[in-house]
Amino acid sequence: MSGEEPKGVRQEQFLDVVSRDEAEARFRKHLKFAPLGEETVALAECRGRVLARDVAARVDVPGFDRSNVDGFAVRAEDVEGARPDAPRRLALVPQLLTPGVRPSNEAPPGAATPIATGGMIPRGADAVVMIETTDPAGDGAVDVRQAVAPGAAISSTGSDIGAGETVLRRGVVLGSREVALLAAIGESTVAVFRKPRVAILSTGDELVAPGSPICPGQVFDSNGPMLAAAVEELGCLAVPFGIVGDDFQRMSETIGAALAAADVVLLSGGTSKGAGDVAYHAVERFADPGVVVHGVALKPGKPLCLAVTQGKPVVILPGFPTSATFTFHEFVAPALRAFAGLAPLRRATLRARLPVKLKSEYGRTTYTLVRLAESSGGALVAYPMGKGSGAVTEFSLADGFFATPAGVEAIPAGAEVSVTLIGQALEPADLMVIGSHCVGLDVLIGRLARDGLTAKVLSVGSTAGLAAAKRGECDIAGVHLMDPATGVYNRPFLDDTLRFAQGYARLQGVVCRPDDSRFAFGSAVEVVAAVAADPQCLMVNRNAGSGTRILIDRLLGGARPAGYSYQVKSHNAVAAAVAHQRADWGVAIETVAKLYGLRFLPLQPEHYDFVIPAQRFARAPVQRFLALLDDPEVRRALADLGFPRHAEA
Ligand code: AMP
Ligand code: MG
Repeated sequence: MSGEEPKGVRQEQFLDVVSRDEAEARFRKHLKFAPLGEETVALAECRGRVLARDVAARVDVPGFDRSNVDGFAVRAEDVEGARPDAPRRLALVPQLLTPGVRPSNEAPPGAATPIATGGMIPRGADAVVMIETTDPAGDGAVDVRQAVAPGAAISSTGSDIGAGETVLRRGVVLGSREVALLAAIGESTVAVFRKPRVAILSTGDELVAPGSPICPGQVFDSNGPMLAAAVEELGCLAVPFGIVGDDFQRMSETIGAALAAADVVLLSGGTSKGAGDVAYHAVERFADPGVVVHGVALKPGKPLCLAVTQGKPVVILPGFPTSATFTFHEFVAPALRAFAGLAPLRRATLRARLPVKLKSEYGRTTYTLVRLAESSGGALVAYPMGKGSGAVTEFSLADGFFATPAGVEAIPAGAEVSVTLIGQALEPADLMVIGSHCVGLDVLIGRLARDGLTAKVLSVGSTAGLAAAKRGECDIAGVHLMDPATGVYNRPFLDDTLRFAQGYARLQGVVCRPDDSRFAFGSAVEVVAAVAADPQCLMVNRNAGSGTRILIDRLLGGARPAGYSYQVKSHNAVAAAVAHQRADWGVAIETVAKLYGLRFLPLQPEHYDFVIPAQRFARAPVQRFLALLDDPEVRRALADLGFPRHAEA
């Protein structure tokens, strides 16, 4: 096979792209969407398995006429008319019918047989009087103070489950409730569908297993563990094959081993036709029928490859985590459900309003992953996750997605979209927090969680957070916006629909590598003035609209140092760029500088405060959040992280 190994850079990127529906149809045409077989498992082992056959009871439940109370088995006619002031005296039958005791005597007329809850009703008796409605009447007799109807306090044979009755249907996932039924009808084993075995391979030279040390340029394999968990969630057995580097020979061998060991082979990464995309070339050689789809007109997920060999699906999912997850759920999960004997998933959809304009890719069905917020009027608002298909959080944290048809280029802000939920139902949060992300905010949210309050945090930046608060789409917005005219933080941006809560200070400063001698002497302002003129000294800038960018531009006073156009969106990204030597300096907060082991030259504190829509201010979770801001213990925890109370009165 090594002779077929691709050499050099090939120009083969163009895929034979088909529509989503065409891709699905081709895949289905070559596969049987049906369970792979069945097996018998012990009752104790069946939880979570899928029932393979309808189960009919072979016995009656209860299996005999049974007393529901402690009391006396009687003939109802013997206590007719009994009242507290006119009790009926009955002779006691000298036998106690506890559960498990088979009555030896028939209940004679005018007599009462002592019986416990669960005891078997003797022949002749047709009701049970509760012990509480009786009084002892000397030796061998009892007075009954209350009449009972025939059948009173008796569960008759088969009244719960009749022999022959179907109690469970094929396809049900067995849980504790189903186990209770099976046990009650005496079944010690159960026929379930065989678990499909799904081999999982992550491909790429850059991949590192979680837990191993990682170098710049490498990434942790998140697709492999994700897919293993996802297939198990679908009632399949994950057969992990780990990480395979971009080596044609090894890849081909591993795929061969995976095909021998499993019913389905799932790969991620290397799906394109280019050099280095070895996974595709290793699958390309199958011809029975082999590759049926390579390229689907959807986003995320275009380079998806669907193949079938030996009657087994071999799928190469795109490497980008969100593309991998999305295409897995769209194309692979339905097949796995069918193989596992599960019914097709029914997904709920909700109408929601898009708060921002959204560009779409013309010519591809575009799926936009969103998080849902509830506006003050109760309508749902769909916030695009906005991190792109390379982000693992994009899918992992989304509530749902909506599709934009291939022929649409943009959706205007305010448009209604139909959101398909990813989970079975929308999980409501007690507190909706939108705005700039901060690890100090994580502390506050963590404290809320300890009180049993859930929060949903959407990190969209200060400006978008403020806009969301003005539209009443959140409970709290975390913002750090400086008014360039006055240098005052946050308050100048409020209007009378918004309330303010004092957050904390974050010390901003210039970050550089500790061993960089160009930054060794002088204050932040002096150092920047010196390096700004040095074309060899690269800066990393922040995105326009961020509070830090305003600070940077004030600091530079019109200068445009080398690297000015290299803009990143977070303090972490600034610190990482400097630590990894992509840049030599930038502006970030002290907490983050420490995290990356960088030198920090202080500039000024910025204020990270909270803005609350007035109409949501009185909500209990909001008040709880505000109370936390006044809690001395919380304040101490924040200060320890480098977030002290700020000086503003
Ligand atoms: P590829 O499809 O191999 O070109 O990979 C596309 C992108 O996905 C690259 O940035 C890869 O590093 C990334 N990627 C591929 N496989 C994985 C994986 N198993 N876990 C996380 N990221 C991955
Ligand atoms: Mg790769």
